[in-house]
Amino acid sequence: MTSFNIEMLPAAQGDALWVEYSDGARTRRMLIDGGPLTGYEFLSECLTRLPDGDQRVELLVVSHVDTDHIEGIVRLLATPRNRWPIEPKDIWFNGYRHMGGQELLGGREGEFLSALIHQRAFAEWNKAFDRSAVVVPDAGPLPRIPLAGGMVLTLLSPDSGKLKKMGDRWEKDVAKWEISPGDLDQAWAQLATVQKFHPGEELTLGGDDLTAKLQAQLKGHDPSDANGSSIAFLAEFSGKSCLFLADAHMDVVCRSIRRLLPVGQARLRVDAVKMSHHGSKNNITAEFLNLVDAEHFLFSSSGAIHDHPNREAVVAVIEGADRIPTLWFNYRSEFSELYEADSLIPGARYRTRYPARGTAGIVLRL
Ligand SMILES: [Zn+2]
Repeated sequence: MTSFNIEMLPAAQGDALWVEYSDGARTRRMLIDGGPLTGYEFLSECLTRLPDGDQRVELLVVSHVDTDHIEGIVRLLATPRNRWPIEPKDIWFNGYRHMGGQELLGGREGEFLSALIHQRAFAEWNKAFDRSAVVVPDAGPLPRIPLAGGMVLTLLSPDSGKLKKMGDRWEKDVAKWEISPGDLDQAWAQLATVQKFHPGEELTLGGDDLTAKLQAQLKGHDPSDANGSSIAFLAEFSGKSCLFLADAHMDVVCRSIRRLLPVGQARLRVDAVKMSHHGSKNNITAEFLNLVDAEHFLFSSSGAIHDHPNREAVVAVIEGADRIPTLWFNYRSEFSELYEADSLIPGARYRTRYPARGTAGIVLRL
């Protein structure tokens, strides 16, 4: 009996997705993002569930440098490697040296993570991409990466344009922290002084988040370069599939999906979509909803800071779906619970799934 399970861990306003897939004989795993430090205890608890002697994780993805995705991974990898609770076989993360050779950097947390991977897991860094950038090529087929055990990932984002824009943003962010471009030793030294990434210290939220201010319309206009640099992909296993969209921009995701569709096919049929940017109205478009035919829609956010998911995005999913969609929320919050009542009436247009009261985090079993 095969399985493909997606757990949206409680990660406050961010993403931390634990994926398990099994052919019935052996369970394999992926970790996509680590949430902000405020959710680290849940990630840590999840990882301690791994059986002794079996810490192997086929792929660790750090989609982009925003604190609500990266901080938990910096904290995790700041532990000496022989005490990491996981053993990743490949780590996808676009750092300085993947920015097309520009003299540019990736935000302070991005520099910290680059330094950590460089020091502790260089051999595993973007292995599937020959240590180059995780990027959709301008022409030709989309990269299709098989993982052990039969999972196949198709890269949808970022493209080279989004990566270059992020490079410009990074340079500005790093300058204010007095890190010299490309000096991973300097970043390492500075990381050592930032106690929040070291076990046993008080946990605090990271500084400024690059997430964009919400706009009034559902136009897919997310101005955040960091979000645009998100690694997003289609994951397929044993006839089941999910789009993991991180905080990616709709223009590049839709372009990639069009490239993926066989001639004459108008829509990509998948089982599930991890909605981009926690259900922000800036990261969903009518074009996307027309291109994708899915049953399950996952919203990862506690509602903290950014009030995600946005009502416009959730309503668009309900109204744009051909079939009766099921909405999955990893928190009960004022931004998620308002959909419950209408989902429970006879003839409801959609279904909802929430964590049990008093808890957070939820698992979708495809
Ligand atoms: Zn985010």
